[in-house]
Amino acid sequence: MPELLAPAGSLDKLKIAVHYGADAVYLSGGPYSLRSRAALSSEELVAGVAYAHRHRVKAYATVNILAHNRDLGGLPEHIDLLRQAGVDAIIVADPGVFSLARRLAPELPIHLSTQANVTNLESARFWQAQGVRRLNLARELGLSELAEIRRAVGIELEVFVHGALCVSYSGRCALSLYLNGRDANLGQCTHPCRYRYALMEERRPGQYFPVEEDSRGAYIFNSKDLCLLHRLPDLITAGTDAIKIEGRMKSAYYVGATVRLYRTALDLISRRLDQEGPEALTALRLPSAFAEELAKIGSRGYTENFLHHPPGAEDMQHQGSDYQPTHVPAGIIRQAGNPPLVEARSPILLGDGLEYLAQGLKNARTVVTKMTNADGKLIRRANPGALIQLATDPPLSAVAEFGLLRKGPPATTDAPEASLAGGTQDA
Ligand code: SF4
Repeated sequence: MPELLAPAGSLDKLKIAVHYGADAVYLSGGPYSLRSRAALSSEELVAGVAYAHRHRVKAYATVNILAHNRDLGGLPEHIDLLRQAGVDAIIVADPGVFSLARRLAPELPIHLSTQANVTNLESARFWQAQGVRRLNLARELGLSELAEIRRAVGIELEVFVHGALCVSYSGRCALSLYLNGRDANLGQCTHPCRYRYALMEERRPGQYFPVEEDSRGAYIFNSKDLCLLHRLPDLITAGTDAIKIEGRMKSAYYVGATVRLYRTALDLISRRLDQEGPEALTALRLPSAFAEELAKIGSRGYTENFLHHPPGAEDMQHQGSDYQPTHVPAGIIRQAGNPPLVEARSPILLGDGLEYLAQGLKNARTVVTKMTNADGKLIRRANPGALIQLATDPPLSAVAEFGLLRKGPPATTDAPEASLAGGTQDA
């Protein structure tokens, strides 16, 4: 079965990904990854790798900027830190960074980032000859190309299966640098592909004429999100060694709910393979509970990108870049117990209906009956960030630390912690 690789944009998200069944996490420290705002401090990075290993989960560090000379300065120290932290591999895109890492830490396995744009089997052979252990293939590949590369090389192949997409080539993009002076290839993307664009005639400043591709609107660069959940059997048949979820900048809820979904799907497929052998993959369809759960995780709509054919207008979200989540994150269990200690992630009110996300796709529905704050006072409303003892009917008796609570549907789009910014350049 492929390894399930999850984003760890913070120590908390790392622990949530581990709780919901990730086999491996990817994280970063310093300014050397393509999510500079999701970088952990050196201490957090060391602690994160140790935590992952204690739970038999692998930890990979992203060092995948496309470096300029000036970026090379602190890299030797950073690579040394990663070596000492005991990361299981580093993820690189730049041949210069690759060669530096090889020289300084030859024992560190290297995974090639999607940013290196491996789109053909000769490229794959080239990187295999360089000693790379794993290739994260370009997102512009179809399933048959993946299978051809699988037959050509013996090294591990990793495929992005879920998350935001860039309209640029596997994340190589100058839009953010051009418009905002923030370079996506150095991890500073400001996501201008999600903006609404208009046309202005140069002698009529301030008069904007909408750009309309068709009657649906003007978000000309705004791609739907990737989701290959229902194609896992095809990806396994094609020989994928690891499936990766994008989203180090996204919410803890997104990470936990998405990892849980893919973990459950992989476990189901694995059981069917054990019972029926490889033929199980040909006709395997995931039960409808998977689609229902998928709908509860916010998105811009889903696309399968290049998997079966190049994307077209139906794979873009021209109507806008907002999303209307059916559910919002409500809280994170900080301590199991009766009642459990919960950190609120959006306002929780007495009488709110909540859903606890147990491992597997089991959801426990309950209603808030009593809340006590850190001073032991009864409260009617808990604001985001508050730590509360949460009594419910029925009681949340079988919850675990790092388990998630959600509620929905939201009355407004005020989804406090949810962030759906992002693009391909997440490793
Ligand atoms: S998310 Fe991707 S396509 Fe959008 S601006 Fe950033 S790098 Fe470019």
